[in-house]
This record gives sequence, C-alpha cells and structure tokens, in this order.
Amino acid sequence: MSRARSLCLTLCLCACTRERPNIILLSLDTTRADRTSLYGYDKPTTPHLADFGKSSTRFDLAYAPMSCTGPTHATMFTGLYPLTHGLISNGRSLSPDKVTLAELLQRAGFQTAGVVGSFVMNRKFGFAQGFESYQDSFLPEHATFKAKRWLGSDVSGGFDATANNTTDRAIRWLEESRSSRHPFFLFVHYFDPHEPYRAPPAYRKRFAHPYDAEIAFMDAEIGRLLEKIDALGLMDDSLIIVTADHGQGLMQHGDPYHNADVYEESVRVPLIFHWPGKIRSQTITGPVELVDLVPTILDAAQVTAEVDESEHLLPWQGRSLSYALYDGGVTPTERSVFLHRQHYNPGKMRDIAVNGSLFGIRRGGWKYVVGEGEGRKELYDLTTDPREQKNLVAEHPTIAAELSDRLTAWRQSAEGAASPAALTSEDKEALEALGYIQ
Ligand SMILES: [Zn+2]
Repeated sequence: MSRARSLCLTLCLCACTRERPNIILLSLDTTRADRTSLYGYDKPTTPHLADFGKSSTRFDLAYAPMSCTGPTHATMFTGLYPLTHGLISNGRSLSPDKVTLAELLQRAGFQTAGVVGSFVMNRKFGFAQGFESYQDSFLPEHATFKAKRWLGSDVSGGFDATANNTTDRAIRWLEESRSSRHPFFLFVHYFDPHEPYRAPPAYRKRFAHPYDAEIAFMDAEIGRLLEKIDALGLMDDSLIIVTADHGQGLMQHGDPYHNADVYEESVRVPLIFHWPGKIRSQTITGPVELVDLVPTILDAAQVTAEVDESEHLLPWQGRSLSYALYDGGVTPTERSVFLHRQHYNPGKMRDIAVNGSLFGIRRGGWKYVVGEGEGRKELYDLTTDPREQKNLVAEHPTIAAELSDRLTAWRQSAEGAASPAALTSEDKEALEALGYIQ
C-alpha cells in the first residue's frame, strides 16, 4: 500500500534559542567502528578522529540499516529504511519522489554541496537530489578500483577517488564556492577503506593489515579537512557529523568484505556529533540507527517538515537524537534496531550462500536474524557473545519468537510505507547485467 507524502515545510522562527549551524556530514565508506581508535581500537588508525571525538557526542552502538553503500546512503538522506525508500541494492536508484535531506535544507535556505568518493554514489542513482553542487566524476589515474563497467554502467572515466583528492575537492568548495550569506550543508564521502586496499606506502608500512592502513590514510585526510574548517573560522558555527555506511567482515563470519550478512562487524559504524559549545562531550551507550540522522540534523537546522496528512506522521522513520546531544538525555537500551540484506537470486557470494532477504533485529542484549531463503534462524546473546558465535535459537525459543514478531511487524510497517516499487529501464539493465532478473 502506498501512502502519498505531501510535505509542507515550515521554518521554526519562534522559540529558537540556537543559531542555524552549517551542517557537515562525513561518510566513511566501509569503516567498522571497532577498527578505529576513536572507538578504542588498540592500533592508532584514527588519531585525528579520536582527538575530534573528545569534544563530541559519541554513540557507541550506532547501526547502519544494511551493509551496502547505496541503500545505507539513501537511508542517511531520507530518514527511511531501505524497505521504504526502495533502494535496496547498489545499481538501483533513489526515486525522485523521495524527499531528501539536501532538498529540505536547500528549501530552507541552505547552500548545498556533495563531494563523493566513488561511482556507487553517482548522480545517476538519485543521490544528487537537492545538491546545488555534486562532485561525482573522477580521473582514471585517481581510481583504486580499475573496472571499466560496474552494474551495467560505463565507469571508464574512473571509479573512485582517494582521500587526498576527496579532501582537496571539499576544501576547494569551501574556499571558492561557499557563500558567506547562507548556512551550508556539505556532504563528503570517503571511499578508501572499501576494497581494494591501496593506501599509500607510508601507511602500508605502519600497519600489518592493509584495511587499517586505508582507515589511517583517510583519517589523516579528514584531519586536513577539519583543520581547514577551523582555519576558515567555521568550526564554531558548524554541526559536524562523522559516520560510515557499513563495516567490513574481515573473515569473522567467513566474509572478507560486506553486503552478505548483518553480523555486527558489517553494520556497526562510528557516529559522532560535534558542535562546540552546543553539543555535549559525552558517550552514549544506547543503540541508535542511521535512520535517525535526518530528524536529528533537521532539528539542529531548525527545519520542520511535516506530512500534510490527518495522522500527522513525520515522513521519516528514525527519531531525533537531540534529547541526548543537547540535553544529556539517555537513549533507551530497549530500543529495537532493524537490519536488512537483500539479494535477488539464490547463489554464492564469495562462498557465502545468499538467497533473497535476510532480516535482523537487535533489542537489549539480544540479536535475532532470519533468512527464509537460506533456512536461517539465529539468536545471539550479544552481552556474553559479542562476536555472534553461539546460536541460541533452540535454547531460547520464547525470546526468538518475541523478536521474530517484532521484526515481522516492522517489516510490514516499512513495506507498507513504501511507494510501489518501480524499476526504471536503467535499473532493469543494471540488474539484468548482474543476473538478478531475466
Ligand atoms: Zn559502502
């Protein structure tokens, strides 16, 4: 069932005690929270972010909805779960009828710019909605991924950019294109921790694992961007958010990469909010989801968007984290976190069997995963088994059943809120190229 979403946008001009900040959203592709020294990793992969995190609110249990680049970014941009926004795999497009964060901020008077680091975030997949400037073309000599085609698209112009180039482009926009008359929204996407691992030699020498070297290289370039933001006098007037679109398997459950599963290593991401003098320096231990980003950012930007419908529902499915950022409120530990993985046809992905949908729910210390096509039902006690090694579904059937019911209710709600799925001819071509549809 589809539900019309007609948005009426109002600016909050009364009772506002905060000034409208610039919004700077940094997305670090493929960055596991626990491989960053920001989150206590014992190797110094992220000294700049660790330092920045000291004056930030850090969420210790932040979850991406999928371990897949396109779907999670679409969630960051819409405040909707993948089941609802419809971009459930790379190679599909975010529908133009979805209202994005950049569109809402642009309508509210923000200057908007996106600087992305890989073709996965190309405008052809709908990610540029609302951005006045969207930098998504690369030079082949900057690319680490050398494919000429990807999901049916020509990428001979270059698939991705390295962090030094991404930071250069972001700084150039700040120095040359930024208007001093309006607040701005700048989205910067770093791709480096994604395979293939090709960090500069100086970083490869310092770390035993090439994944760590990539994170450290990216961190140094983020440090350079943060320094420039400070040097331009923008730090005090900017809400800076740092997060990631998903993690990386690193063989904990047989997968070196991501997008095959919803285990913790593939969905736990960093999440910090920084705004000097406004946002508290603190650590929040309750679970949150990236679907929360849109309402949280709109709160900070003092933009109110309401659905013009009798039920007065907000158009997004997350919840604002403002209560914790500004007021020191406590995140409920009993909040449910919802996870999803989607493949269209049965098959093997890097020797891992995948077949259709896989869904997960984390609630309290428990995590339940169900993959109907793969005959999987798994229950983990994350308190005693954080690496998800011992399936307790047979020992705790009541807990499994309760979580299963919650997951089913969420799926029905998220699917029910979606527009009817419409494949464009480009979508069809891309999916056919992958063998997803015949
Ligand atoms: Zn990604």
